[in-house]
Amino acid sequence: MFTNAGMNQFKDIILGNKSPKWTRVTDSQKCLRVSGKHNDLEEVGLDTYHHTMFEMLGNWSFGDYFKKEAIEWAWEFLVDVLGLDPADLYATVFEGSPAEGLSRDDEAASYWEQHLPASHIINGNKHDNFWEMGDTGPCGPCSEIHIDLRSPEEKAKTPGAELVNKDHPQVIEIWNLVFMQFNRKADQSLEPLPAKVIDTGMGFERLCMALQGKQSNYDTDVFTPMIHRIAELSGKKYGEDHMTDVAMRVIADHVRTIAFSIADSQLPGNAKAGYVIRRILRRAVRYAYTFLGQREAFLYKLIDTLIDSMGEAYPEIKQQRELIMKVTKEEEDSFLRTLENGIKMLETAIANARKAGKTEISGTEAFVLYDTYGFPLDLTELILKENGMTLDQAGFDKEMAAQKARARNAAAVEATDWLTVNDGEQEFVGYDKLSTPARILRYRQVKQKNKEYYQIILSATPFYAEMGGQVGDSGTLTSADGETIEVFDTKRENGIGVQLTHKLPANLEGEFTATVNEAARRATSCNHTATHLLHEALREVLGTHVEQKGSFVSPDLLRFDFSHFQKVTPEELRKVEHIANRKVREAIARDERRNVPIDEARAMGAMALFGEKYGDEVRVIRYGSSIELCGGTHVDNTGNIGMIKIVSESSIAAGIRRIEAITGEKVENSIDKITDTLHGIAALLNNAPDVVGALKKAIEENAELRKEAEEHIKERVAEMAKTLLNNAETINGNKVILLTGKQLPDVVKNVAFTVRNLSPEATAFLGATTDMAGKPLLTVMLTNDLVEHGLNASAMVREAAKAIKGGGGGQPGFAQAGGKDGSGIDAAAALLKANF
Ligand code: ATP
Ligand code: MG
Repeated sequence: MFTNAGMNQFKDIILGNKSPKWTRVTDSQKCLRVSGKHNDLEEVGLDTYHHTMFEMLGNWSFGDYFKKEAIEWAWEFLVDVLGLDPADLYATVFEGSPAEGLSRDDEAASYWEQHLPASHIINGNKHDNFWEMGDTGPCGPCSEIHIDLRSPEEKAKTPGAELVNKDHPQVIEIWNLVFMQFNRKADQSLEPLPAKVIDTGMGFERLCMALQGKQSNYDTDVFTPMIHRIAELSGKKYGEDHMTDVAMRVIADHVRTIAFSIADSQLPGNAKAGYVIRRILRRAVRYAYTFLGQREAFLYKLIDTLIDSMGEAYPEIKQQRELIMKVTKEEEDSFLRTLENGIKMLETAIANARKAGKTEISGTEAFVLYDTYGFPLDLTELILKENGMTLDQAGFDKEMAAQKARARNAAAVEATDWLTVNDGEQEFVGYDKLSTPARILRYRQVKQKNKEYYQIILSATPFYAEMGGQVGDSGTLTSADGETIEVFDTKRENGIGVQLTHKLPANLEGEFTATVNEAARRATSCNHTATHLLHEALREVLGTHVEQKGSFVSPDLLRFDFSHFQKVTPEELRKVEHIANRKVREAIARDERRNVPIDEARAMGAMALFGEKYGDEVRVIRYGSSIELCGGTHVDNTGNIGMIKIVSESSIAAGIRRIEAITGEKVENSIDKITDTLHGIAALLNNAPDVVGALKKAIEENAELRKEAEEHIKERVAEMAKTLLNNAETINGNKVILLTGKQLPDVVKNVAFTVRNLSPEATAFLGATTDMAGKPLLTVMLTNDLVEHGLNASAMVREAAKAIKGGGGGQPGFAQAGGKDGSGIDAAAALLKANF
């Protein structure tokens, strides 16, 4: 789903890395165009024919038929099969590019001339008629089919040919036939592809519009049920007000994307694909908020309508109804709070600007709202307009550009072209062997941020390449002459394993021995098999609504995310652990079957995952009743795992829980640590046989003692206050008490307040004490009448604190100061007293 073109999945075949199983393919796939090279997001809803997610129909030839047949069959399908009127159809052909040494695609034009008058065949430039996946990779000229869906009157006024590729909403491209014949290299030059490829893509929704004689995708039966439901829920009508219509289209479109994404296990989040989905959802919420007056979660109420119309073709959205609704609602609620906070922040900014006599909000303020708080810029602008304010757009653009540059620098990857050392295809032997003889097929250098490394493709590789949550293998590459190079990771690219190294071997042509780091691989396999056992146990304990939503398997731990709507209790977790560990002790041998036809695997009861794409033949991993489709590495026997221990359980999103667990040696280490801690505690309790009982007793005793001590202190404080008052010196008619010597700070403070209670007038308490560690403390308490006569405790302690090299303060009636120099305490006492 997170691909923006049909060809991504076939890239390795197109590049000639893998031979195709079939040379002719037709397909239908969900396609997202919301970020990167193809980003239609900002158009969606404003126009009537771009979607965030659409269904892309395609046909393919890998070294089989080429331009002639592709064009013939496209025509046959549209005109003979579907019955579109040839008079409405236009074709574009590549006009050529002298700079690249490419001439006009006369060949394609000649095939179109069999069907279309010259006035319906239009030359197109490189931008429209030369298809490229990215900066490098397969590319070639293309020929688009456009259709004119305007009314006869409009057609009479302006010929359709003038409107092709001019962003007219009723003269649109429906099908693109791409003739891939080049590979664009890193230096931008073109080289011919090993086998020529046909890649066509047709938008299902646009085709519907043409077939149903509508002028907008949203008027076809793909979207009308959703538009009706939105109108019903919001009490607004479609087709009466421009912005209401836009909002309804935005919502009708975005709900599909959000629901399918969640069903495919891609939840809204803070990074990467998750962030893309979050932004789409927020865009929909924002339109519902501003133009449909929806102040509460709204989108989730549309999921049932979506399921009614698409649930039969895509059962995953039906099966995951509850999860999709929960996640959507939670995201909506949280963004609505953001909107409210943002509006408050903006109101403050407006008020501040007004106070300063300004009518403009700075670009930085708007950017912070947008970037940090996810507050949409157009909403900022709208609110500013309503308040007679403007935005410093240039300032905002500057901030935006700076942030984009930061993101680009962080993500920029530069790679040289692949350099071929030996010809051939890679064979993966890592399920059976941890070491194998190999040759280098290709390599290249990659620069990313401050990292530099090499990617090496081997003829035979035992290294498992990162996939399905399992991390890639590390290990070594040893040449015949004894040079050893470290392989620090293995990634998967276009279906093949790519070894990552920090340097290249001196002799690239020779024979190597590729060896996997065995300890790490074993630990990883233990964790992967444990994941399967836990998955099964979770379903047994919690119910079959538990579905895998994410997984990470490394040598250190396993992480497993699954759908479940409340916290898993400690008792349930323990049950899960017990079931899984029983399977470990049963020492069940691995039953591994490769190349099982997918239907057969399903018939065996194998658990398959939504959002995971499986080929016709799959690998089935079975340990007793645990049967999964899985490409990962696994232990020979569950007994190898030793033991499984769940170490944490948490929530990662609405309706999704995560457990982390460890196995084998890590469990042993963890038990050692727990045992050491317990022994340490027992030793402190004189190795009492009942540690918990002894500890409980000690805690109770401690509480008892504390209570007694507090009682004691209270009594002592009362006594001291009385004695001190009785012995107080009278200076100018005021009672002045001076407390010196070693005293508990708490006691001093309490004495001061008790003195005030006992003698609320004409009384001063002065403390010049040291605590048990010898640190000096000055304390002054003055009764209210003294304060009224102009004395100030705070000023007094501050002045006297100079003698003890310290400082402090407080209220006019009570203040304290600490210090560093206990030897000055007598001098400080004298200073305090001198105030009277
Ligand atoms: P446009 O110029 O209309 O954006 P495009 O050149 O981006 O189209 P292609 O990349 O050639 O389109 O994709 C092939 C087909 O996919 C198009 O002919 C169209 O039918 C469909 N398509 C492309 N983008 C979208 C979209 N955002 N929503 C729906 N359908 C689309
Ligand atoms: Mg486009």
